[in-house]
Amino acid sequence: MSLVSRVQQIAREHPEKVAYHFMGKDTSYAEFEQSVEKFATALKSIGIEKGDHVGFLLGNSPHFLISLYATMRLGATAVPINPIYTPDEISYIVKNSDAKAIIALDALLPLVEKAAGVFTSVENYIICETQPDTADKLRALPDALKTKVKSFTLLLSDTSPDSAPVEVSEDDNAVILYTSGTTGQPKGAMLTYSNIYSNARDVAEYLSINTNDRVITALPVFHVFALTVVVNAPLLVGATLLLVPRFSPQDVFDIAKEHKATVFAGVPTMYNFLYQYPNGNVEDFSTLRLAISGGSSLPVALLHNFEEKFKVRISEGYGLSEASPVTCFNPLDRDRKPGSIGTNIVNVENKVVNELGEEVPIGKVGELVVRGPNVMKGYYKMPEETEYAIRNGWLYTGDLARQDEEGYFYIVDRKKDMIIVGGYNVYPREVEEVLFGHPSIVEAAVVGVPDPTFGEEVLAFVVKKDPSLTEAQLHDYCSEKLAKYKVPKRFEFLEELPKNTTGKILRRSLKKQTV
Ligand code: AMP
Repeated sequence: MSLVSRVQQIAREHPEKVAYHFMGKDTSYAEFEQSVEKFATALKSIGIEKGDHVGFLLGNSPHFLISLYATMRLGATAVPINPIYTPDEISYIVKNSDAKAIIALDALLPLVEKAAGVFTSVENYIICETQPDTADKLRALPDALKTKVKSFTLLLSDTSPDSAPVEVSEDDNAVILYTSGTTGQPKGAMLTYSNIYSNARDVAEYLSINTNDRVITALPVFHVFALTVVVNAPLLVGATLLLVPRFSPQDVFDIAKEHKATVFAGVPTMYNFLYQYPNGNVEDFSTLRLAISGGSSLPVALLHNFEEKFKVRISEGYGLSEASPVTCFNPLDRDRKPGSIGTNIVNVENKVVNELGEEVPIGKVGELVVRGPNVMKGYYKMPEETEYAIRNGWLYTGDLARQDEEGYFYIVDRKKDMIIVGGYNVYPREVEEVLFGHPSIVEAAVVGVPDPTFGEEVLAFVVKKDPSLTEAQLHDYCSEKLAKYKVPKRFEFLEELPKNTTGKILRRSLKKQTV
Protein backbone atom coordinates (compact mmCIF):
# COMPACT_ATOMS: atom_id res chain seq x y z
CA MET A 1 0.00 0.00 0.00
CA SER A 2 1.25 3.49 -0.82
CA LEU A 3 -0.15 7.01 -0.64
CA VAL A 4 -0.72 6.96 -4.40
CA SER A 5 -2.56 3.65 -4.41
CA ARG A 6 -4.64 4.73 -1.39
CA VAL A 7 -5.85 7.82 -3.24
CA GLN A 8 -6.61 5.63 -6.28
CA GLN A 9 -8.61 3.28 -4.09
CA ILE A 10 -10.60 6.10 -2.46
CA ALA A 11 -11.27 7.60 -5.91
CA ARG A 12 -12.66 4.23 -7.01
CA GLU A 13 -14.72 3.52 -3.92
CA HIS A 14 -15.92 7.06 -3.09
CA PRO A 15 -15.47 9.07 -6.31
CA GLU A 16 -17.67 11.94 -5.18
CA LYS A 17 -15.95 12.43 -1.83
CA VAL A 18 -14.30 15.86 -1.68
CA ALA A 19 -10.51 15.57 -1.59
CA TYR A 20 -9.86 19.27 -1.21
CA HIS A 21 -11.51 22.64 -1.16
CA PHE A 22 -9.64 25.61 -2.61
CA MET A 23 -10.84 29.19 -3.16
CA GLY A 24 -14.53 28.35 -3.33
CA LYS A 25 -14.19 25.14 -5.34
CA ASP A 26 -14.50 21.52 -4.29
CA THR A 27 -12.45 18.80 -6.02
CA SER A 28 -13.53 15.19 -5.61
CA TYR A 29 -11.17 12.27 -5.12
CA ALA A 30 -12.07 11.06 -8.64
CA GLU A 31 -11.15 14.45 -10.14
CA PHE A 32 -7.99 14.65 -8.06
CA GLU A 33 -6.92 11.16 -9.12
CA GLN A 34 -7.56 12.03 -12.76
CA SER A 35 -5.47 15.19 -12.54
CA VAL A 36 -2.69 13.24 -10.85
CA GLU A 37 -2.68 10.62 -13.58
CA LYS A 38 -2.74 13.25 -16.33
CA PHE A 39 0.04 15.26 -14.77
CA ALA A 40 2.12 12.14 -14.19
CA THR A 41 1.68 11.33 -17.88
CA ALA A 42 2.75 14.87 -18.75
CA LEU A 43 5.83 14.63 -16.52
CA LYS A 44 6.70 11.32 -18.13
CA SER A 45 6.40 12.89 -21.56
CA ILE A 46 9.04 15.47 -20.64
CA GLY A 47 11.42 12.78 -19.45
CA ILE A 48 10.73 12.35 -15.73
CA GLU A 49 11.34 8.77 -14.67
CA LYS A 50 11.64 6.75 -11.53
CA GLY A 51 14.41 8.13 -9.32
CA ASP A 52 14.48 11.60 -10.91
CA HIS A 53 14.26 14.66 -8.65
CA VAL A 54 11.57 17.28 -9.20
CA GLY A 55 11.82 20.62 -7.36
CA PHE A 56 8.61 22.33 -6.22
CA LEU A 57 8.50 26.06 -5.63
CA LEU A 58 4.84 26.08 -4.71
CA GLY A 59 2.49 27.29 -1.99
CA ASN A 60 -0.80 25.96 -0.61
CA SER A 61 -2.74 25.23 -3.77
CA PRO A 62 -3.91 22.22 -5.79
CA HIS A 63 -0.75 22.59 -7.93
CA PHE A 64 1.24 21.26 -5.00
CA LEU A 65 -1.05 18.30 -4.32
CA ILE A 66 -1.22 17.28 -7.98
CA SER A 67 2.54 17.70 -8.47
CA LEU A 68 3.36 15.69 -5.36
CA TYR A 69 1.10 12.76 -6.14
CA ALA A 70 2.06 12.77 -9.84
CA THR A 71 5.75 12.72 -8.95
CA MET A 72 5.20 9.84 -6.56
CA ARG A 73 3.11 8.00 -9.15
CA LEU A 74 6.21 7.93 -11.35
CA GLY A 75 8.41 6.71 -8.51
CA ALA A 76 10.33 9.98 -8.74
CA THR A 77 11.38 12.21 -5.83
CA ALA A 78 9.77 15.50 -4.84
CA VAL A 79 11.97 18.30 -3.51
CA PRO A 80 9.64 20.89 -1.94
CA ILE A 81 11.33 24.28 -1.56
CA ASN A 82 9.99 27.34 0.21
CA PRO A 83 9.01 29.64 -2.70
CA ILE A 84 9.88 32.76 -0.77
CA TYR A 85 13.46 31.76 -0.16
CA THR A 86 16.01 34.17 -1.62
CA PRO A 87 17.42 33.38 -5.09
CA ASP A 88 20.65 32.24 -3.42
CA GLU A 89 18.87 29.83 -1.10
CA ILE A 90 16.78 28.44 -3.95
CA SER A 91 19.83 28.13 -6.12
CA TYR A 92 21.70 26.18 -3.45
CA ILE A 93 18.88 23.66 -3.05
CA VAL A 94 18.19 23.26 -6.75
CA LYS A 95 21.87 22.59 -7.45
CA ASN A 96 22.44 20.38 -4.42
CA SER A 97 19.35 18.28 -5.12
CA ASP A 98 20.20 17.68 -8.82
CA ALA A 99 16.61 18.54 -9.75
CA LYS A 100 15.75 17.48 -13.29
CA ALA A 101 12.57 19.58 -13.48
CA ILE A 102 11.13 22.45 -11.50
CA ILE A 103 7.48 23.23 -10.94
CA ALA A 104 7.15 26.85 -9.87
CA LEU A 105 4.63 29.54 -9.12
CA ASP A 106 4.30 32.16 -11.84
CA ALA A 107 5.58 34.82 -9.46
CA LEU A 108 8.95 33.10 -9.87
CA LEU A 109 8.99 33.38 -13.66
CA PRO A 110 11.63 36.18 -13.61
CA LEU A 111 13.87 33.92 -11.50
CA VAL A 112 13.26 30.99 -13.84
CA GLU A 113 14.19 33.13 -16.85
CA LYS A 114 17.49 34.00 -15.21
CA ALA A 115 18.12 30.50 -13.90
CA ALA A 116 17.35 28.60 -17.09
CA GLY A 117 20.93 28.72 -18.31
CA VAL A 118 22.47 28.35 -14.86
CA PHE A 119 20.91 25.22 -13.41
CA THR A 120 22.58 22.62 -15.56
CA SER A 121 20.62 19.65 -14.21
CA VAL A 122 17.20 21.22 -14.86
CA GLU A 123 15.75 20.27 -18.25
CA ASN A 124 12.24 21.66 -17.80
CA TYR A 125 10.44 24.36 -15.84
CA ILE A 126 6.70 24.11 -15.35
CA ILE A 127 5.00 27.34 -14.45
CA CYS A 128 1.73 27.36 -12.53
CA GLU A 129 -0.59 30.12 -13.64
CA THR A 130 -2.19 32.04 -10.80
CA GLN A 131 -2.26 35.49 -12.44
CA PRO A 132 -4.38 36.40 -15.49
CA ASP A 133 -1.41 37.62 -17.54
CA THR A 134 0.86 34.60 -17.01
CA ALA A 135 -0.27 32.77 -20.14
CA ASP A 136 0.66 35.86 -22.21
CA LYS A 137 4.02 36.09 -20.48
CA LEU A 138 4.72 32.44 -21.26
CA ARG A 139 3.79 32.95 -24.91
CA ALA A 140 6.09 35.97 -25.09
CA LEU A 141 9.17 34.07 -23.90
CA PRO A 142 12.08 33.87 -26.35
CA ASP A 143 12.07 30.65 -28.43
CA ALA A 144 15.16 29.30 -26.71
CA LEU A 145 13.29 29.38 -23.40
CA LYS A 146 9.93 28.20 -24.74
CA THR A 147 11.27 24.69 -25.20
CA LYS A 148 12.24 24.56 -21.54
CA VAL A 149 9.47 26.55 -19.86
CA LYS A 150 5.99 25.03 -19.96
CA SER A 151 2.57 25.86 -18.63
CA PHE A 152 1.15 23.66 -15.86
CA THR A 153 -2.39 24.33 -17.08
CA LEU A 154 -1.63 23.41 -20.69
CA LEU A 155 0.30 20.29 -19.73
CA LEU A 156 -2.66 19.18 -17.66
CA SER A 157 -5.34 20.01 -20.21
CA ASP A 158 -3.45 18.66 -23.25
CA THR A 159 -2.59 15.27 -21.76
CA SER A 160 -4.77 12.17 -21.65
CA PRO A 161 -4.38 10.13 -18.52
CA ASP A 162 -2.13 7.20 -19.33
CA SER A 163 0.22 6.30 -16.55
CA ALA A 164 -0.10 3.41 -14.15
CA PRO A 165 1.69 3.96 -10.85
CA VAL A 166 5.33 2.89 -11.08
CA GLU A 167 6.37 0.31 -8.53
CA VAL A 168 8.73 1.56 -5.89
CA SER A 169 10.71 -0.22 -3.26
CA GLU A 170 10.59 0.84 0.39
CA ASP A 171 14.01 2.37 0.11
CA ASP A 172 13.31 4.67 -2.83
CA ASN A 173 13.18 8.37 -1.98
CA ALA A 174 9.73 9.92 -2.11
CA VAL A 175 10.79 13.32 -0.85
CA ILE A 176 13.99 15.19 -0.13
CA LEU A 177 13.35 17.92 2.41
CA TYR A 178 15.91 20.59 3.01
CA THR A 179 16.05 21.34 6.71
CA SER A 180 16.26 24.90 7.92
CA GLY A 181 19.97 24.31 8.42
CA THR A 182 20.83 25.00 12.02
CA THR A 183 24.51 25.03 11.20
CA GLY A 184 26.11 25.45 7.82
CA GLN A 185 24.21 24.86 4.60
CA PRO A 186 20.77 23.24 4.49
CA LYS A 187 20.84 19.46 4.37
CA GLY A 188 18.49 17.36 2.24
CA ALA A 189 16.77 14.76 4.43
CA MET A 190 15.93 11.77 2.21
CA LEU A 191 12.53 10.42 3.20
CA THR A 192 11.66 7.15 1.56
CA TYR A 193 8.25 6.03 0.29
CA SER A 194 8.01 3.85 3.33
CA ASN A 195 9.03 6.69 5.71
CA ILE A 196 6.31 9.06 4.60
CA TYR A 197 3.64 6.42 4.24
CA SER A 198 4.26 4.99 7.69
CA ASN A 199 4.28 8.36 9.41
CA ALA A 200 1.07 9.52 7.71
CA ARG A 201 -0.60 6.22 8.62
CA ASP A 202 0.63 6.27 12.23
CA VAL A 203 -0.33 9.92 12.76
CA ALA A 204 -3.80 9.29 11.31
CA GLU A 205 -4.23 6.31 13.59
CA TYR A 206 -2.92 8.03 16.70
CA LEU A 207 -5.07 11.14 16.17
CA SER A 208 -8.04 9.18 14.79
CA ILE A 209 -8.07 11.24 11.60
CA ASN A 210 -10.81 9.68 9.51
CA THR A 211 -12.88 10.06 6.38
CA ASN A 212 -15.37 12.40 8.09
CA ASP A 213 -12.70 14.92 8.98
CA ARG A 214 -12.39 18.29 7.32
CA VAL A 215 -8.85 19.41 7.96
CA ILE A 216 -7.67 23.02 7.73
CA THR A 217 -4.44 23.04 5.69
CA ALA A 218 -3.05 26.44 6.60
CA LEU A 219 0.51 25.39 7.47
CA PRO A 220 2.85 25.86 4.49
CA VAL A 221 2.70 22.61 2.52
CA PHE A 222 6.39 22.58 1.62
CA HIS A 223 7.15 22.02 5.32
CA VAL A 224 7.20 18.50 6.70
CA PHE A 225 4.65 19.21 9.46
CA ALA A 226 2.03 20.15 6.87
CA LEU A 227 3.11 17.49 4.42
CA THR A 228 2.39 14.61 6.77
CA VAL A 229 -0.20 15.92 9.20
CA VAL A 230 -2.48 18.06 7.04
CA VAL A 231 -1.81 16.64 3.55
CA ASN A 232 -0.83 12.97 3.48
CA ALA A 233 -2.53 11.69 6.65
CA PRO A 234 -5.96 13.12 5.71
CA LEU A 235 -5.66 11.99 2.07
CA LEU A 236 -4.72 8.51 3.21
CA VAL A 237 -8.01 8.14 5.06
CA GLY A 238 -10.21 9.92 2.53
CA ALA A 239 -10.73 13.10 4.56
CA THR A 240 -11.18 16.57 3.04
CA LEU A 241 -8.46 19.23 3.00
CA LEU A 242 -9.54 22.83 3.39
CA LEU A 243 -6.64 24.60 1.69
CA VAL A 244 -5.82 28.06 3.01
CA PRO A 245 -3.47 29.76 0.52
CA ARG A 246 -1.74 31.76 3.22
CA PHE A 247 -2.38 31.75 6.96
CA SER A 248 -4.42 34.62 8.34
CA PRO A 249 -6.66 34.39 11.41
CA GLN A 250 -9.67 35.74 9.51
CA ASP A 251 -9.29 33.16 6.72
CA VAL A 252 -8.90 30.33 9.22
CA PHE A 253 -12.00 31.39 11.17
CA ASP A 254 -13.99 31.87 7.95
CA ILE A 255 -13.07 28.51 6.48
CA ALA A 256 -13.61 26.73 9.82
CA LYS A 257 -17.11 28.16 10.12
CA GLU A 258 -18.15 27.82 6.49
CA HIS A 259 -16.92 24.24 6.07
CA LYS A 260 -17.49 22.96 9.58
CA ALA A 261 -13.82 22.10 9.97
CA THR A 262 -13.01 19.35 12.44
CA VAL A 263 -9.20 19.51 12.62
CA PHE A 264 -6.78 22.42 12.71
CA ALA A 265 -3.01 22.13 12.90
CA GLY A 266 -0.65 25.01 13.50
CA VAL A 267 2.59 26.15 15.04
CA PRO A 268 2.43 28.07 18.35
CA THR A 269 2.69 31.49 16.67
CA MET A 270 -0.46 30.67 14.69
CA TYR A 271 -2.24 29.81 17.94
CA ASN A 272 -1.05 33.10 19.35
CA PHE A 273 -2.34 35.02 16.30
CA LEU A 274 -5.70 33.25 16.51
CA TYR A 275 -5.93 33.91 20.24
CA GLN A 276 -5.00 37.61 19.97
CA TYR A 277 -7.22 38.26 16.94
CA PRO A 278 -10.04 40.54 18.07
CA ASN A 279 -12.72 39.09 15.77
CA GLY A 280 -12.33 35.42 16.61
CA ASN A 281 -14.84 33.79 18.89
CA VAL A 282 -15.98 30.46 20.20
CA GLU A 283 -18.62 29.87 17.48
CA ASP A 284 -15.94 29.97 14.76
CA PHE A 285 -14.35 26.81 16.12
CA SER A 286 -17.49 25.13 17.40
CA THR A 287 -17.10 22.16 15.00
CA LEU A 288 -13.37 21.57 15.68
CA ARG A 289 -12.77 18.28 17.46
CA LEU A 290 -9.01 18.55 17.45
CA ALA A 291 -6.41 21.31 17.43
CA ILE A 292 -2.85 20.15 16.86
CA SER A 293 0.26 22.10 17.77
CA GLY A 294 3.83 21.29 16.79
CA GLY A 295 6.94 22.73 15.21
CA SER A 296 8.09 24.52 18.35
CA SER A 297 7.10 24.56 21.98
CA LEU A 298 3.61 25.75 22.80
CA PRO A 299 3.76 28.03 25.86
CA VAL A 300 1.53 26.57 28.56
CA ALA A 301 -0.12 29.95 29.25
CA LEU A 302 -1.07 30.22 25.57
CA LEU A 303 -2.48 26.68 25.56
CA HIS A 304 -4.74 27.51 28.53
CA ASN A 305 -5.78 30.91 27.17
CA PHE A 306 -6.65 29.43 23.77
CA GLU A 307 -8.58 26.51 25.21
CA GLU A 308 -10.47 28.81 27.54
CA LYS A 309 -11.43 31.19 24.72
CA PHE A 310 -12.33 28.66 22.02
CA LYS A 311 -13.32 25.60 24.07
CA VAL A 312 -11.15 23.38 21.89
CA ARG A 313 -8.55 21.06 23.30
CA ILE A 314 -5.02 21.43 21.89
CA SER A 315 -2.91 18.33 21.50
CA GLU A 316 0.80 19.09 21.21
CA GLY A 317 3.14 16.84 19.30
CA TYR A 318 6.75 16.90 18.26
CA GLY A 319 8.70 16.07 15.18
CA LEU A 320 11.53 16.97 12.86
CA SER A 321 12.12 16.76 9.12
CA GLU A 322 14.49 13.82 9.56
CA ALA A 323 11.67 11.77 11.13
CA SER A 324 8.98 12.48 8.50
CA PRO A 325 8.35 14.26 11.06
CA VAL A 326 6.18 13.02 13.95
CA THR A 327 7.66 11.02 16.82
CA CYS A 328 5.50 12.00 19.81
CA PHE A 329 1.98 13.25 20.41
CA ASN A 330 -0.27 13.85 23.32
CA PRO A 331 -2.82 11.06 23.34
CA LEU A 332 -6.46 11.87 22.79
CA ASP A 333 -7.88 9.03 24.82
CA ARG A 334 -6.01 9.90 28.02
CA ASP A 335 -5.41 13.27 29.56
CA ARG A 336 -2.93 15.28 27.59
CA LYS A 337 -0.30 17.04 29.62
CA PRO A 338 0.21 20.76 28.94
CA GLY A 339 3.87 21.54 28.31
CA SER A 340 4.55 17.99 27.19
CA ILE A 341 4.95 16.66 23.66
CA GLY A 342 3.14 13.49 24.71
CA THR A 343 4.18 9.88 24.32
CA ASN A 344 5.58 7.68 21.53
CA ILE A 345 3.20 7.49 18.59
CA VAL A 346 2.53 3.98 17.29
CA ASN A 347 5.62 2.19 15.91
CA VAL A 348 8.04 4.94 16.97
CA GLU A 349 10.40 4.90 19.97
CA ASN A 350 11.86 7.94 21.70
CA LYS A 351 14.41 7.97 24.50
CA VAL A 352 16.57 10.45 26.35
CA VAL A 353 20.31 9.76 26.37
CA ASN A 354 23.56 11.19 27.74
CA GLU A 355 26.70 12.07 25.79
CA LEU A 356 27.62 8.37 25.62
CA GLY A 357 24.27 7.40 24.15
CA GLU A 358 23.10 5.74 27.40
CA GLU A 359 19.53 6.24 28.51
CA VAL A 360 19.33 8.70 31.44
CA PRO A 361 17.09 8.14 34.50
CA ILE A 362 13.48 9.37 34.46
CA GLY A 363 13.33 13.13 35.03
CA LYS A 364 16.92 13.79 33.95
CA VAL A 365 17.69 15.99 30.96
CA GLY A 366 19.53 14.55 27.95
CA GLU A 367 19.30 14.47 24.16
CA LEU A 368 16.18 13.05 22.59
CA VAL A 369 16.87 10.22 20.15
CA VAL A 370 14.35 8.48 17.91
CA ARG A 371 13.98 5.13 16.18
CA GLY A 372 11.24 3.91 13.86
CA PRO A 373 10.02 3.38 10.30
CA ASN A 374 9.72 7.17 9.94
CA VAL A 375 13.44 7.91 10.34
CA MET A 376 15.12 9.17 7.16
CA LYS A 377 17.58 7.18 5.12
CA GLY A 378 20.14 9.95 5.48
CA TYR A 379 21.13 13.34 4.09
CA TYR A 380 21.48 13.54 0.32
CA LYS A 381 25.14 13.40 -0.68
CA MET A 382 26.29 14.00 2.91
CA PRO A 383 27.53 10.71 4.33
CA GLU A 384 29.43 12.29 7.23
CA GLU A 385 26.44 14.33 8.42
CA THR A 386 24.31 11.19 8.08
CA GLU A 387 26.71 9.18 10.21
CA TYR A 388 26.63 11.87 12.86
CA ALA A 389 22.84 12.17 12.84
CA ILE A 390 22.05 8.45 12.93
CA ARG A 391 24.14 6.46 15.40
CA ASN A 392 23.47 2.81 16.27
CA GLY A 393 20.10 3.04 14.55
CA TRP A 394 18.95 6.09 16.55
CA LEU A 395 18.36 9.54 15.10
CA TYR A 396 19.92 12.25 17.27
CA THR A 397 17.50 15.17 17.30
CA GLY A 398 19.69 17.90 18.80
CA ASP A 399 16.86 18.62 21.24
CA LEU A 400 17.19 18.37 25.01
CA ALA A 401 14.34 16.57 26.71
CA ARG A 402 13.25 14.65 29.79
CA GLN A 403 10.72 11.92 30.32
CA ASP A 404 8.28 11.45 33.21
CA GLU A 405 7.18 8.26 34.92
CA GLU A 406 4.18 7.88 32.64
CA GLY A 407 6.24 7.99 29.45
CA TYR A 408 5.48 11.60 28.51
CA PHE A 409 8.34 13.59 27.03
CA TYR A 410 9.10 17.26 27.62
CA ILE A 411 11.30 19.31 25.32
CA VAL A 412 13.58 21.41 27.45
CA ASP A 413 15.11 23.31 24.54
CA ARG A 414 17.31 22.93 21.54
CA LYS A 415 20.77 21.83 22.59
CA LYS A 416 22.41 24.76 20.85
CA ASP A 417 20.00 27.36 22.25
CA MET A 418 20.95 26.63 25.85
CA ILE A 419 22.47 29.66 27.57
CA ILE A 420 25.22 29.25 30.14
CA VAL A 421 25.30 32.03 32.75
CA GLY A 422 28.27 31.76 35.09
CA GLY A 423 28.26 27.98 34.72
CA TYR A 424 24.49 27.58 35.21
CA ASN A 425 22.30 26.29 32.39
CA VAL A 426 19.42 28.51 31.35
CA TYR A 427 16.89 27.12 28.91
CA PRO A 428 15.29 29.97 26.94
CA ARG A 429 12.04 28.06 26.87
CA GLU A 430 11.65 28.18 30.64
CA VAL A 431 12.06 31.97 30.67
CA GLU A 432 9.75 32.37 27.65
CA GLU A 433 7.07 30.31 29.41
CA VAL A 434 7.15 32.82 32.29
CA LEU A 435 6.96 35.80 29.93
CA PHE A 436 4.06 34.26 28.01
CA GLY A 437 2.21 34.07 31.32
CA HIS A 438 2.28 37.87 31.64
CA PRO A 439 -1.08 39.37 30.61
CA SER A 440 0.50 42.43 28.93
CA ILE A 441 2.77 40.45 26.61
CA VAL A 442 1.84 39.28 23.11
CA GLU A 443 4.93 37.17 22.54
CA ALA A 444 8.50 36.86 23.71
CA ALA A 445 11.79 35.18 22.86
CA VAL A 446 14.93 34.77 24.88
CA VAL A 447 18.52 34.50 23.68
CA GLY A 448 21.98 34.39 25.23
CA VAL A 449 24.43 37.19 24.51
CA PRO A 450 28.11 37.40 25.45
CA ASP A 451 28.89 38.82 28.87
CA PRO A 452 32.45 39.59 30.06
CA THR A 453 31.81 38.37 33.61
CA PHE A 454 29.37 35.48 33.29
CA GLY A 455 30.22 34.20 29.81
CA GLU A 456 26.64 34.80 28.67
CA GLU A 457 23.68 36.79 29.88
CA VAL A 458 19.98 36.39 29.23
CA LEU A 459 18.30 38.88 26.94
CA ALA A 460 14.53 38.92 26.34
CA PHE A 461 12.76 40.33 23.29
CA VAL A 462 9.19 41.24 24.06
CA VAL A 463 6.19 42.35 22.02
CA LYS A 464 3.86 44.16 24.38
CA LYS A 465 0.12 44.36 24.41
CA ASP A 466 0.03 47.16 26.95
CA PRO A 467 2.22 50.09 25.81
CA SER A 468 2.80 51.24 29.40
CA LEU A 469 4.67 48.04 30.32
CA THR A 470 8.23 48.85 31.46
CA GLU A 471 11.50 46.96 31.65
CA ALA A 472 11.56 47.40 35.45
CA GLN A 473 8.08 45.84 35.81
CA LEU A 474 9.14 42.87 33.74
CA HIS A 475 12.30 42.47 35.74
CA ASP A 476 10.29 42.37 38.99
CA TYR A 477 7.78 39.94 37.50
CA CYS A 478 10.50 37.52 36.34
CA SER A 479 12.39 37.82 39.62
CA GLU A 480 9.33 36.50 41.45
CA LYS A 481 9.18 33.43 39.26
CA LEU A 482 12.73 32.58 38.27
CA ALA A 483 16.08 32.03 39.97
CA LYS A 484 18.25 35.13 39.78
CA TYR A 485 20.62 33.85 37.07
CA LYS A 486 17.67 33.08 34.77
CA VAL A 487 16.11 36.54 35.00
CA PRO A 488 16.83 38.47 31.80
CA LYS A 489 19.39 41.22 32.35
CA ARG A 490 17.80 43.25 29.60
CA PHE A 491 14.42 43.43 27.92
CA GLU A 492 14.10 44.82 24.42
CA PHE A 493 10.72 45.80 23.09
CA LEU A 494 9.94 45.01 19.46
CA GLU A 495 6.90 45.54 17.23
CA GLU A 496 7.04 41.88 16.24
CA LEU A 497 9.41 38.93 16.45
CA PRO A 498 11.18 37.63 13.33
CA LYS A 499 9.73 34.32 12.17
CA ASN A 500 10.32 31.95 9.31
CA THR A 501 7.47 31.08 6.95
CA THR A 502 6.50 28.15 9.11
CA GLY A 503 5.98 30.60 11.96
CA LYS A 504 8.94 29.53 14.05
CA ILE A 505 10.56 32.37 15.94
CA LEU A 506 14.06 32.96 14.63
CA ARG A 507 16.21 33.21 17.74
CA ARG A 508 19.28 33.30 15.52
CA SER A 509 18.29 36.53 13.80
CA LEU A 510 17.38 38.05 17.17
CA LYS A 511 20.86 37.18 18.34
CA LYS A 512 22.33 38.90 15.30
CA GLN A 513 20.40 42.08 16.21
CA THR A 514 22.31 42.26 19.45
CA VAL A 515 25.80 42.36 17.98
P1 AMP B 1 11.94 20.97 11.35
O1 AMP B 1 12.90 19.95 10.90
O2 AMP B 1 11.99 22.26 10.61
O3 AMP B 1 10.58 20.41 11.42
O4 AMP B 1 12.33 21.38 12.85
C1 AMP B 1 12.40 20.41 13.84
C2 AMP B 1 12.67 21.04 15.17
O5 AMP B 1 11.53 21.79 15.64
C3 AMP B 1 12.91 20.04 16.28
O6 AMP B 1 14.22 19.53 16.27
C4 AMP B 1 12.62 20.87 17.51
O7 AMP B 1 13.72 21.67 17.87
C5 AMP B 1 11.48 21.77 17.06
N1 AMP B 1 10.18 21.26 17.53
C6 AMP B 1 9.25 20.60 16.82
N2 AMP B 1 8.16 20.34 17.59
C7 AMP B 1 8.41 20.86 18.82
C8 AMP B 1 7.67 20.93 20.05
N3 AMP B 1 6.45 20.46 20.17
N4 AMP B 1 8.28 21.51 21.10
C9 AMP B 1 9.53 22.03 21.00
N5 AMP B 1 10.26 22.01 19.86
C10 AMP B 1 9.70 21.43 18.78
